[in-house]
Amino acid sequence: MTDFSVELQCPQCGAPAELEETERLFDCPFCRVKSFLVGKSFFRYVLPDNAPKDADLIWIPYWRFRGMTFSFIDNDIRHRVADASIAAVQSSDIPRSLGLRSQTLKLRFLTNKENGQRIKPRLSLKEATDVFQSRHDAAKAAYQCHIGERVSLIYAPFYIDGTLFDGILNRALSGDPSRIAELTADRPTQEIRFVPTLCPACGWDLHGEAGTLALACRNCDTLWQAGGRELAPLPFSHIPSRDENAVYLPFWRIRADVSGILLNSYADLVRTANLPRAPQPEWEKTPFHFWSPAFKSAPQSYLRLGHNLTVSQPGESLSKKLPKGRRHPVTLPVSEAVESLKITLAALVRPRKNLASRLLDMHIRPKRALLVYIPFKEGHHELIHPQYKVAVNRNMLKLSKAL
Ligand SMILES: [Zn+2]
Ligand SMILES: [Zn+2]
Repeated sequence: MTDFSVELQCPQCGAPAELEETERLFDCPFCRVKSFLVGKSFFRYVLPDNAPKDADLIWIPYWRFRGMTFSFIDNDIRHRVADASIAAVQSSDIPRSLGLRSQTLKLRFLTNKENGQRIKPRLSLKEATDVFQSRHDAAKAAYQCHIGERVSLIYAPFYIDGTLFDGILNRALSGDPSRIAELTADRPTQEIRFVPTLCPACGWDLHGEAGTLALACRNCDTLWQAGGRELAPLPFSHIPSRDENAVYLPFWRIRADVSGILLNSYADLVRTANLPRAPQPEWEKTPFHFWSPAFKSAPQSYLRLGHNLTVSQPGESLSKKLPKGRRHPVTLPVSEAVESLKITLAALVRPRKNLASRLLDMHIRPKRALLVYIPFKEGHHELIHPQYKVAVNRNMLKLSKAL
């Protein structure tokens, strides 16, 4: 699957417009009013139907997942880029995926005014992706996590006219219409909202790239994210740098309760990861944090960045202002970053003996998260942080914006 676009109407002037799937910031080319799209944790779309006018449409939900899957198999971490759509109901009467249709069709945001009946999703995203993944991996993973860069629910139209019809292609399907008619209908949903890009604290214009999840107010030094039906403050900090050309990459610093393994302090980390460092008494009191990139990247790079920062435990004093230099947009939400904590942990535990069974019993409960901008030095091809021994390919950053 590739990107698809979403047709919409400007909430201010009603002009028809089109957005890329990942865009959250809508800048109307006609009235120049900017709005930010706020919805539930994932967006819901409908595919256009071509059914006869009098057809009773049945909208069936499909999960659309694009992101990374990490598997712990044979004491090793494997990764893959996943890009799939999977029916969110278990039924052999309908196609299991949307196939290539969403590539060529334009989506609309779901409203409660659609004609026909909307079917309730029965499989969670995790259940759906697990089913999908098990068809791909020959070996059984002891543990698996999915980090979605893009997760949405897409409703495809069907109808019954003697037999079951695909409402996009208007083609009869071999599925059993009576079983489709028995699927459970869903209640009205929270519709997408357009909120003005004005700082809720001071009223100034907010700024951000089209795909960003965090809008910045340069007047009062605040960051804002979608929260429920409005904009909500996003707590952040940055590590100051004297380098005027530094590029600030966003990371999530996450404090979590971990069961089954002692990982409260930096000293615990040194023991868990068997780091070749002479223990210092104050390390027992230094809190341990997980780190994860807050931007999209290739799976290998994502894992390495999270690993190296988690092992390094950046401890510089933080500034609560926005950094003056260039900031890379926040494109990976903390709700997805927390999905990676167990695999980050798996990557650092030494030795790995019996780790597979311990991973299964372990519970990691995230408690607090802070967005931290970390200054990287600009090289020809890479952004580098020598102290944390990490480099990010600049092309990859550009590419993964479009990923
Ligand atoms: Zn407009
Ligand atoms: Zn402000």
